[in-house]
Amino acid sequence: MIDNYCERIGPGLWAEPLNALSNLSFLIAAFVAWRLLQRGAGGEGGHKFLVLLIATIGIGSGLFHTYATVWAKWLDVIPIFLFQLTFLCLYCRQVIRWSALNCAMAVALFLMASIVALQFPLSLNGSAMYLPAISVLLLLGSFHYLTNQNGRLSLLLGALVFCASLAFRTVDAAVCELLTIGTHFMWHLLNGVVLYLLVRALVVARSELWVDHRRQGI
Ligand SMILES: [Zn+2]
Repeated sequence: MIDNYCERIGPGLWAEPLNALSNLSFLIAAFVAWRLLQRGAGGEGGHKFLVLLIATIGIGSGLFHTYATVWAKWLDVIPIFLFQLTFLCLYCRQVIRWSALNCAMAVALFLMASIVALQFPLSLNGSAMYLPAISVLLLLGSFHYLTNQNGRLSLLLGALVFCASLAFRTVDAAVCELLTIGTHFMWHLLNGVVLYLLVRALVVARSELWVDHRRQGI
């Protein structure tokens, strides 16, 4: 049994009820993002795959926080990592409009940084592995804002919410004596918002229908 979280005090499928149930946030995010695609606000290649990955993240993480085994941990980690790589690739290609080679180099660089970060599994309560992601997201969010893309603030907002969620993830063990449920569930709840904002930024960035959709409030 893997016991990395404050809420878990023993074995059992429901030993982390909040950490398990808060994964509904990803399923809701996937549903709302899917509706966005259905409304025709974009839909370039790969967007549906990203939405599918959001749902998979929710299911994988849900399994990890119930079964708490090594195989379930992989089901938790792999979709998250795939989402990061896919999003970076699509953003470089579709929004920044880099060549395929430059996009591949950016993804390879990110992959290397993530592998380096994985060498510090105990740092920051296990959150060190997300330092490349938060750094890249802040960069892309700034780019999105400064180049005045459609949905100008969405990516920067996503980056800021991710800062908050990463903080909740990091302090989970530290606050455990004061707050027995821990704070890991907030990481899930806020990340549903983050992933939706990321997909939204990508989808509307190139959408010529953006002005119409703004009137519809999306
Ligand atoms: Zn989790």
